[in-house]
Amino acid sequence: MTQVVVIGGGIAGVSCAYHLARAGVRDIVLVEKGELTSGSTHHAAGLVTQFNPSPTMMRFRRYSVQLYEELGVFERVGSLRIASRVTYVGELGWELYCPAEYGATLWDTLRVDGVTPGGYRAIESLRLEKGYRAWGSDLTAETTPLEAGLGFAVKMDKEFIGRNALGEPQQKLVCIVLDDPRAVALGSEPVRSGDEIVGRVTSGGYGYAVGASIVFAYVPVEHSAVGSQVAVDIFGDWVGGEIRADPLYDPKGERVRA
Ligand SMILES: Cc1cc2nc3c(=O)[nH]c(=O)nc-3n(C[C@H](O)[C@H](O)[C@H](O)COP(=O)(O)OP(=O)(O)OC[C@H]3O[C@@H](n4cnc5c(N)ncnc54)[C@H](O)[C@@H]3O)c2cc1C
Repeated sequence: MTQVVVIGGGIAGVSCAYHLARAGVRDIVLVEKGELTSGSTHHAAGLVTQFNPSPTMMRFRRYSVQLYEELGVFERVGSLRIASRVTYVGELGWELYCPAEYGATLWDTLRVDGVTPGGYRAIESLRLEKGYRAWGSDLTAETTPLEAGLGFAVKMDKEFIGRNALGEPQQKLVCIVLDDPRAVALGSEPVRSGDEIVGRVTSGGYGYAVGASIVFAYVPVEHSAVGSQVAVDIFGDWVGGEIRADPLYDPKGERVRA
């Protein structure tokens, strides 16, 4: 009596038989009605892409590359990502990647009716409304993810380099909406709570979708409550503002999951 019968000699069946044998099973029969790997596997381009949002699939893929290399049936050629469903503006969209010499052609190709070009100031305005932090201003080597409101991305129940340095946050990055929408902060302006200067602006700009002048600033935790009244020095005038829950735009993230 055979212990294990595997039906089908495609990559799935062959892999089952191989791993069972590696696990010590010695009595395996693989039944293939045609030739080994003559089904879908015969058509596969042989790509083992390394991008996938699922951590489990990523582990499978990394393991596949490692195993194929061990077996000497695979050569790494790298891969090129040309379009990615990521957003830094809060809308469902694509980021396109291409060599610099194709940039002008890509631009011309995308310039069709109904498409309006936007530059970096538009991106800046959109990301402020959406509460996406910017490296170099809202995030620096001096700030921690917990202070920056990125605690959701940190698994404190795991061991990692820098875990002990995180500690309890002493300051928090807050979103302030200025009372005067025409007053726009550029960065580094002082932020006052009552008569006390409690922080400084990390980034600011006008949010066109929400119709408000937005400021991000680090303030001590005790001054960071939503609804707190603060003032920001804009070109020598103290402009009042309120700390608001962020993001101001699409707080449930429905647009990027549409
Ligand atoms: C054009 C193309 C390109 C692809 N490119 C890639 C790629 O680059 N990277 C990637 O990861 N995936 C790729 N894929 C997908 C990949 O090929 C399949 O997901 C994979 O090969 C499926 O393997 P399988 O063992 O499940 O099926 P199959 O390879 O189809 O194996 C099933 C086997 O079972 C046999 N069989 C069926 N019924 C019986 C029976 N009753 N008795 C005995 N034997 C039976 C068949 O003859 C066949 O050999 C591609 C697919 C196609 C079509």
